[in-house]
Formats: sequence, C-alpha cells, structure tokens
Amino acid sequence: MNIGSIENHRGREGGALVYPVYSRRSGGLSLGVNLFPDAKVCTFDCPYCEVFPFKTDISFSVDPMAAALRGVIAEARARREAVRDICFSGNGEPTISPHFPAALLAAAKIRDELVPDAALVVITNGTGLLNAQTFELLRHAATGLALKLWLKLDAGTEDWYAKMDRSAVLFDRLIAAIKAFAAIAPFTIQTMLCAINGAPPPAEEAAAWERLLRELAAPGHLTGVQIYGKARPSPGLDASPVPAAVLETRAASLRAVLPESIPVEVFP
Ligand code: SF4
Repeated sequence: MNIGSIENHRGREGGALVYPVYSRRSGGLSLGVNLFPDAKVCTFDCPYCEVFPFKTDISFSVDPMAAALRGVIAEARARREAVRDICFSGNGEPTISPHFPAALLAAAKIRDELVPDAALVVITNGTGLLNAQTFELLRHAATGLALKLWLKLDAGTEDWYAKMDRSAVLFDRLIAAIKAFAAIAPFTIQTMLCAINGAPPPAEEAAAWERLLRELAAPGHLTGVQIYGKARPSPGLDASPVPAAVLETRAASLRAVLPESIPVEVFP
C-alpha cells in the first residue's frame, strides 16, 4: 500500500482492513482500522455520513488486520513518517463488530511494540456503551491502555438527535450510558454541526447541547471537545454546511462555561 498516494478514506470502501490517511483530526498520519470491509454496518444513519454505498466479498479477521497494520507501520518508518495514531473508525460503528475486542487488543499490542508514541483511538457513536461488556472493555482500555475514546454527541435534544443521527437507539438511553461512562473514564466529545434540509440547529438545541456538555464535564474526565463542520461529500443530500461562524460561536460559548483545561477545537 503506497501511503503517499492516499489522502482520503476511499481505501476503506475498497475493502482495506487498514487504511492510512492524513487526518485533520490527528494533524498527521493516521492508520485507520476498518472492521467492516464488506459493507457499512452502523447503529446510526447520519445524513452527513461520508461512507458511500459499497459492497465487497472481503471479510474481517484479526490476523490479516494485524499483518496489514505492521506492514503499513514499516512503510511509514521507511519513509521516516511519524504515525500519529491508530484509529478504529471505518465503515460504521466499530464497537458493534464481534471482532472489536480482539482487534482492539491486537492493535494496542502493536502500538506498544512498534509505535509507542502513537495514540490508540476509537471513534464511536456511543451506542456500544449500552452493552455491558463493551462498556467495560472501553473503560478498561481508556483507563489502562491509554485508549483515546472520541465519542460522537451531535445533539442535546431528542428532536435534533432524531434529525442528525436517525437511530433506533433511544436518546435518553444513549445519554444515560454516556453519562455513566463520563463519570469514570476519560473521553473526548465530537460534535458535527450542519444544516438538515437547509435548517441549522435551532437555538434551544445549542443551549441544551451546552448544558449536556457541562454535565458530562462535571466528573472531571472530559479531555476535549471537537466541533466539526461538514467539509466532505456524503452520499445523502439532506445535510449541508453551516457558516464557520456558527461553529466558532458554539465553541466560544462552551469555552466560557468549561474549565480552561478542556480544549474546545473547531474544524470547519
Ligand atoms: S455514526 Fe459514523 S459511520 Fe455511522 S452513520 Fe453516523 S457518520 Fe456514518
């Protein structure tokens, strides 16, 4: 795999188990681990989702993933490129894959052995926290394996959640699980701000989201907030960008109420 030629996520839709990308989130080379090389599998149906429809006959298993990860790290080293992180994201919600526990532990081992300075990241919509075993695995990884959990929280109200995430998972149940995790382990919040069918988030949504963030920060485990704009194409047509000023206004308002030690970043 030629790292130099890969600047977006298309490799994962071609069935790659590991796909190197230059990520604005990581600020450098990120090695994505894709647990769903055959088709998208997710508990959300976000209208802004960047995964385009695809189908392959490639199935996931841990050993080929681990071999691919080692290979891409070796290539990065040969190019004297620092690996900023190994990141579970890919074509859906990683925590619902039956391979997730073994794959996470294998990636942690490879990280420790080959690129100890790289972060180990799981990008999740949080629905895995409703499963007691997954909750415990993520708690253990976040507190014992230095896992960085980047948790999606697109809405502070049930109405906006329904528009942004279109999930069968009830908003109240999801928020309760996120609060339970926030009480005991470190996590970063990621929020997408965009318009749905031309309508930006209503004012009451912004206030509710900020209240919720303050509650989640209160136990002292919130390590950062990342506010995203819709910058990439998506197969759906319902979502569209909002002006960057909307993101900056949200961020400024949140910074004013959170402890200064919690960075609030904007990625328009
Ligand atoms: S949670 Fe992520 S993968 Fe799932 S639909 Fe939303 S953006 Fe797509």
